[in-house]
Amino acid sequence: MTGAGLRIGLGVDAHAFGDGVPLVLGGVTIDHPRGLVGHSDGDVIAHALTDALLGAAGLADIGALFPSDDERYRGADSLALLTGAYAQVRAAGYVLVNADCVVIGQEPRVAPHREEMRRRLAGALGVEEGAVNVRATTTDRLGFTGRGEQDRLNRALAGSRLTVYSGTGHCPHWEEPERFAADVVAFVRSVDAP
Ligand SMILES: [Zn+2]
Repeated sequence: MTGAGLRIGLGVDAHAFGDGVPLVLGGVTIDHPRGLVGHSDGDVIAHALTDALLGAAGLADIGALFPSDDERYRGADSLALLTGAYAQVRAAGYVLVNADCVVIGQEPRVAPHREEMRRRLAGALGVEEGAVNVRATTTDRLGFTGRGEQDRLNRALAGSRLTVYSGTGHCPHWEEPERFAADVVAFVRSVDAP
């Protein structure tokens, strides 16, 4: 395969912790005092992976595919959304090569659940488990600022990318530990590529 058939997509997502909701990460329900609040089940890893796959194939983002004001997706299983989005990616002529997911947050510990997350995400995509990686990092208790302030949140998200890909340290805008972010890079290749 030449590089010409290979495409890269980035996906970023963040949700706030909240009481009274289960914590679902990478398709795994984790025993934890708080969960991630979202229109669906708030699974940031599944959402960021979905977005990275759609982006690599040149398709619209997850919000366009599964609108958050659509009642059909209230409490939805994000792995099912991932499966649906990947079907569109394949219909566009691409298959996943590999995806690298980085979870950013102080809690919970991801390592004990990492292999199960890889299994569930790969299962939702129908790909080899080795094609989906899940890793985690903390922010030294620095978090997003400006909860509810879109402009500042956007800057924080841009910062998360810098943190993940440059490895240069922490974004100065991160002052709240409350939000959980996931950042994914996914590679797809054209099915017709040699
Ligand atoms: Zn999300």
